[in-house]
Amino acid sequence: MDLGIAGKRALVCASSKGLGLGCAQVLANAGVNLILNARGADALAVEAEHIRTTCGVDVETVCADITSREGQYRVNVVAAGIDILVTNAGGPPAGIWSDWSREDFESAINANMLTPIAMMQAHLPSMIERKWGRVVNITSQSVKAPIPSLGLSNTARTGLTGFVAGVSRQVAPDGVIINNLLPGIHATERSHYLDGAAAKMEGLTIEAIKLRRESSIPARRYGTTGEFGAICAFLCSEHAGFIVGQNILVDGGGVNVTL
Ligand code: NAP
Repeated sequence: MDLGIAGKRALVCASSKGLGLGCAQVLANAGVNLILNARGADALAVEAEHIRTTCGVDVETVCADITSREGQYRVNVVAAGIDILVTNAGGPPAGIWSDWSREDFESAINANMLTPIAMMQAHLPSMIERKWGRVVNITSQSVKAPIPSLGLSNTARTGLTGFVAGVSRQVAPDGVIINNLLPGIHATERSHYLDGAAAKMEGLTIEAIKLRRESSIPARRYGTTGEFGAICAFLCSEHAGFIVGQNILVDGGGVNVTL
């Protein structure tokens, strides 16, 4: 399917690895020019060059912490006038309710709620002016089915979801489409970290935890970054103009809900 977005320009935040990189790769396959971002310079440079040579699109990189105001400013200078914004950042640490201090909550809320809100506030005005824009926020299945050990994530992402519910309907009349994409378990460094944290907490091997988590998913496997990226790219496409303010699970059936 032609996504109808070749030649457009996208910023994908936190995109040198994992889900962000998966989104960037599929957008590039659709002919979208990219701005990639991460804190670490090495993986960012390697992946940017790989995408340039395999897809033939322009790829700019901004090495910055997207959760800091200074990082957002530097990214936004390069990304001025983008057509597509994919917000993303690292997830907060796992634990139990009594572990988390006020500072931990502030950090999670900054990374997974205030940062995507700030990025939308920075780029929505020019999208509205040009009467076309697409925003996909990478959130989590924990929005639909809270994960007890990820209380920091549950808290921050629920706030973002509430904000998006309103703003997506306010900007849709101007051709700007915002949706949230909710990953279930995908094979990335983050899921490997979470498997490791569970293994430590329960005194089991990481392989045992992974097998148990895989068998809890009706698809009986972790998702791939490629299939996640493909759905993100569709939501950024010309064809997604009538999908507004949705929270779309990509989880192999892991969350047992109908709505
Ligand atoms: P990942 O494999 O750990 O990759 C994270 C990417 O984001 C890396 O490129 C990392 O590069 C970059 N990054 C992290 N913090 C950043 C920051 N402050 N500023 C700029 N770049 C940053 O993680 P993932 O699995 O793709 O997860 C992405 C998001 O989806 C996370 O919020 C995670 O909680 C959520 N999620 C993931 C899963 C899953 O199963 N994978 C499930 C539900 C939700 P640098 O470290 O070099 O900055």
